Amino acid sequence: MFDKTIAMLKKIRQLLSLGQPKEKENETVAITCLYCEKLIAQSIDGEMVPSHIECYKAGNVPVPNAGWLCSQECATAFEVKYNVTFQRTKHGKVDYYEGEV
Ligand SMILES: [Zn+2]
Repeated sequence: MFDKTIAMLKKIRQLLSLGQPKEKENETVAITCLYCEKLIAQSIDGEMVPSHIECYKAGNVPVPNAGWLCSQECATAFEVKYNVTFQRTKHGKVDYYEGEV
């Protein structure tokens, strides 16, 4: 199960050809939805603005080692497009953190 998740994340990274935003000093990097490219936050000197907690509470969906999706709708659309399966809660939400960030 764990190996399968790692393999899936590697596949996502290959598909998107991107890793985590580069964190250089005095650099602002846009953090955008992996699916629709909507702006979710900025990474300013390695600090997410708004914070990852605020983004998560606003309904954006973080995927470990892959990036962010702006909504459950984009998470579902991403799964279909790239033929991957995200971890879901018992309520069917894509959520790797079970409400705890
Ligand atoms: Zn989106």
